[in-house]
Amino acid sequence: MIRQYELIDKILKYNKKADVSLLNRAYVFSMKAHGNQKRASGEAYLTHPLEVASILADLKLDDATIATGLLHDTVEDTLATIEEIEKLFNPEIAQLVDGVTKLSRISFNNKVVEQAENFRKLFLAMSKDIRVLLVKLADRTHNMRTLEFKKKEASRKRTAQETLDIFAPLADRIGLYSVKTELEDLAFKSLHPEEYVRIERRMEFVKTHDDLIPRTLEHLESVIKEQGIEFDLSGREKTIFSIYKKMEKKGLAFDQLTDILAYRVMVKDTVDCYRVLGVIHDAYKAIPGRFKDYISNPKPNGYQSLHTAVIGPYGNRIEVQIRTQEMHEIAESGVAAHWLYKQENDQAVNEGTQYKWLKQLLEVIQSSEDPEEFLENTKLDLFKENVFVFSPSGDIISLPTGATPLDFAYAIHSEVGHKCQSAKVNGRIVPLRTQLHTGDQIEIVTNKAQAPVPGWREIVVSARARTAINRYLRLQERDEQVRLGREIFEKACKREERKVKDSDLAPVLDKYKLENAEEYYAAVGQGRLFPKQAFELIFEPEVEEKTEEDSINYAKRKDVSEQESAIGIDGLISGMAVHMAGCCNPVPGESIVGIINTGRGVTIHRKDCNNLNQFEDQPDRWISVKWNEGQLEEVEDRAFLVRLRINMVNQPGSLSELSTAVFNANVNICDFHIERKVTDSFDIRCDVEVKNVENLDHLMKVIRNLPSVNLLERLQG
Ligand code: MN
Repeated sequence: MIRQYELIDKILKYNKKADVSLLNRAYVFSMKAHGNQKRASGEAYLTHPLEVASILADLKLDDATIATGLLHDTVEDTLATIEEIEKLFNPEIAQLVDGVTKLSRISFNNKVVEQAENFRKLFLAMSKDIRVLLVKLADRTHNMRTLEFKKKEASRKRTAQETLDIFAPLADRIGLYSVKTELEDLAFKSLHPEEYVRIERRMEFVKTHDDLIPRTLEHLESVIKEQGIEFDLSGREKTIFSIYKKMEKKGLAFDQLTDILAYRVMVKDTVDCYRVLGVIHDAYKAIPGRFKDYISNPKPNGYQSLHTAVIGPYGNRIEVQIRTQEMHEIAESGVAAHWLYKQENDQAVNEGTQYKWLKQLLEVIQSSEDPEEFLENTKLDLFKENVFVFSPSGDIISLPTGATPLDFAYAIHSEVGHKCQSAKVNGRIVPLRTQLHTGDQIEIVTNKAQAPVPGWREIVVSARARTAINRYLRLQERDEQVRLGREIFEKACKREERKVKDSDLAPVLDKYKLENAEEYYAAVGQGRLFPKQAFELIFEPEVEEKTEEDSINYAKRKDVSEQESAIGIDGLISGMAVHMAGCCNPVPGESIVGIINTGRGVTIHRKDCNNLNQFEDQPDRWISVKWNEGQLEEVEDRAFLVRLRINMVNQPGSLSELSTAVFNANVNICDFHIERKVTDSFDIRCDVEVKNVENLDHLMKVIRNLPSVNLLERLQG
């Protein structure tokens, strides 16, 4: 374990002006805050922030970032507060610690990991200051180094998978090659320990038992030397994970594994890079499609080098990288090195701009001209134009920048939007026009009586919400015109002492080419037509008695949703219509998931329901829901339908035995049907109402234990 003074020494080596007293204060604060806390390894907790700070020092970072490394878990895991840190240190450090704490609070679940790309964008968007992300990556690196101490295998695997899905690609994105490869290897070791060891052994074997590598190095060296170029040649061992990926991709076996090294030529300038490339392509046969010019087209993270692959002097493929010293440093420790290098060679650089690269990093990420990287950059651009917010159940929803809770409601479902009454952001009720920020958790409160109003058009920014509101309002306007037209018409009838039914309007509709009476009234409401014209056309001496039907209010809209109670299910937006799926009939206590139906609310299925397969390609429709057993207990008469099939021996008294057992289990039978009767047994279909899964399990156990029962199963579909 690194000690504080060793950490300070390490920092002073690259930054003579480091604020040692600040770093010491951060150390002492962290020590006091963590007190006697222990790591899973049994070591004092303090070793963790120290190691994290040390990883950050390896990346040659500034005082504030390293202090943040020391303090990063204090707010999350101890009684310390951001306010204290701001008072004792400074607002910059407080903001960084706050940022890291917020990132830590994002809970991962498998579904989020499945949305890894979204998640990476979210992370980038949340780390307004890229240093927050660097601390988080250092934190993850140390946690991965000590992963073996975690007791539960499932939790180790989950952490490793997250690392592979999210953190390693993030490190790659910002050019931290060393962090990326370490994270990948550690994660791979945890996920596939046997493969890891086999590759490791094979690499060891190739290195010690095969002189192919030294012979290749020798040959390469002599070829380049002939041209009188100054250079430095070395072999770089590939990482275990990268070898694994290649073997997977090419279907190679372990004993075919020979190219464990990539050869690297370092030269003094860019011109020599291309000269060396020419020499190598002259001497060996280049493998088509493998040449990459990252010098003229740097990777988005700033990486530059020439890559090529050739058939080497002994007939095997070899990979060669060609680069300058400066390019090399960038490749190893990211854009950080780029700026440090610039600075060392440029006297005029202002002290204050030493860590300017941190701020410019995001620009660099996006400034690539390489067409290959173009798509990726376009994707990355999204996070500037979007905010990522959470539903109450933790789903990430992406909305345009400037979006409000109303946009969120319409993103869930247009009915939720239409009925949106108020919203809570991070637990607090806010006005509907409140701007959302990345990381906010939104809860929508709906009310059946609520409906869109024209003012809403000004509140929303998403196309989806605007379209839905406009469509609704257009219909509303028309309803209003029809209502008004009818009123005008009826008044006119009264005045003229005429009685007119809708069906009497036929000649009027004909003349003005109108579809139906409603359209006629709308025209009257708009002032395009007048009742008098109609009276002239349909004038008849005998007009029938006006009937009840005539007073149908056209403006009245039918309520379409047959709503079952959503009580007892968490994760729904209140007011959403809920149906229990008839195919699997979920009961409380079982894992469930909601499927959103257009215009029909949500259907709740059991997570193992076969019918869910058909929605697999429509991830938008899935909504994660949970039973709220506490709430269910309050509703006494709430019961859930389950269909059972029982096969039982046909003998006197067996049916009454069954019904007594069901009755004693305190379960209500709603339907009972003998489906088939053979000589010695019945097939019975029985619908029962249960309170929850324990209730059901108990019932099934009781039935199964009846001597006359041969078979019992719960029916699906
Ligand atoms: Mn930590």
